[in-house]
Amino acid sequence: MAVLYNGKRNHALLTINEIFHSIQGESTHSGRPCVFVRLTACDLRCSWCDTPYAFTEGRKMTVDEVMTQVGTFGCGLVELTGGEPLLQREVYSLMDRLLAAGHTVMLETGGHVSIEQVPQPVIKIVDVKCPGSGESQRNHWANLDRLAPHDEVKFVIKDRADYEYARDVVRRHELTRRAAAVLFSPVHAVLDAKTLAEWILEDRLEVRLQLQTHKYIWGADVRGV
Ligand code: SF4
Repeated sequence: MAVLYNGKRNHALLTINEIFHSIQGESTHSGRPCVFVRLTACDLRCSWCDTPYAFTEGRKMTVDEVMTQVGTFGCGLVELTGGEPLLQREVYSLMDRLLAAGHTVMLETGGHVSIEQVPQPVIKIVDVKCPGSGESQRNHWANLDRLAPHDEVKFVIKDRADYEYARDVVRRHELTRRAAAVLFSPVHAVLDAKTLAEWILEDRLEVRLQLQTHKYIWGADVRGV
């Protein structure tokens, strides 16, 4: 039976790829236990995407069912990820419910959908797509004007051209001043982290080199961790 919330039952449906408890592998919250709610579907096709199984695989769940499953883990931190979570209208109900239940809520978004309606307390990790992704023409630049001080901006970097693009965006939009962190993440097994580190140091960039911790703990291709 649907759970009562504000006196109402919530039967709104989301398509969910997976819900699991793991260690946060990205952002400044890396290393923290976290429940991940992966929503199905994405309208981008980044060349290096590591979750293509989330494009179509999933099952319908009510917001109440998602809340119940999240609650079983007894974990304060919850991340909504995908796919692209903002493609599903009911994700906003889920955010409201998670916040009302006292969770710290993070949102990983591809950066091509407006973040305008995301509740302010949600910590948004907003991608800016570099040319190597094949999707840089889809960046929704207005999102960079909507960042809250606790939000973070992520660039996934495949090669030197991506690095220079990211560097120029960071400078042009003064992102190190406007976000809690600017994350430069090398494409796993494609760009050497050491090379990226050297470029960042050479340019005196105040960004954060991000390695995907979960891939070092469990391996690059393991799902549900
Ligand atoms: S936005 Fe994310 S889920 Fe969508 S294709 Fe790119 S990496 Fe994959």
